[in-house]
Amino acid sequence: MIGQRHCPFCKASALHACSHLALAAEGRDFVRRCVELSQAQPIWETFCALRQKQLRQSGDWTPEREDFTWLETAFRSEFLDHLRWFSGMEYEWRTGPKPEQGGFYVLLWSREPKRLWWELREEFERRTAILAAPPTSSPRGIAAGEYGTRHVPLPASAEPWLISPPLSPSSRS
Ligand SMILES: [Zn+2]
Repeated sequence: MIGQRHCPFCKASALHACSHLALAAEGRDFVRRCVELSQAQPIWETFCALRQKQLRQSGDWTPEREDFTWLETAFRSEFLDHLRWFSGMEYEWRTGPKPEQGGFYVLLWSREPKRLWWELREEFERRTAILAAPPTSSPRGIAAGEYGTRHVPLPASAEPWLISPPLSPSSRS
């Protein structure tokens, strides 16, 4: 076994999957498994959609900006690095039953994996709330500026009031 890793807490081999090994997954599955294990599928999809929309609107979108949706290193720096219960990420070469099934596995360590998944889901929720919040610049400001420069005459808005039926005085009698 090349580059075999050990738990930073109890020193068990990563292959023993001690209670501190939150996840061992192939690189291509890593982000998806993290989302699954934190039971955050819906909020994750919302976040990705909002993020993409915002980037496209601002003209800032590039394929690299969405790396975090599939690339474990980008996902780590976007979401995991600053979590309290994140204790590290490592790579381990693992062989499968067939040579072509071998590959690099991403190991995710945490003192309390369960808390890590809760924390990750909260992080998704927090970040989604920020994205979904209305922009700080008030749209009223834009509308007022537009109105000020155009000098469009107001439509005869008084008219509907004139044609509204007069109140019947009969109710008074
Ligand atoms: Zn351990």
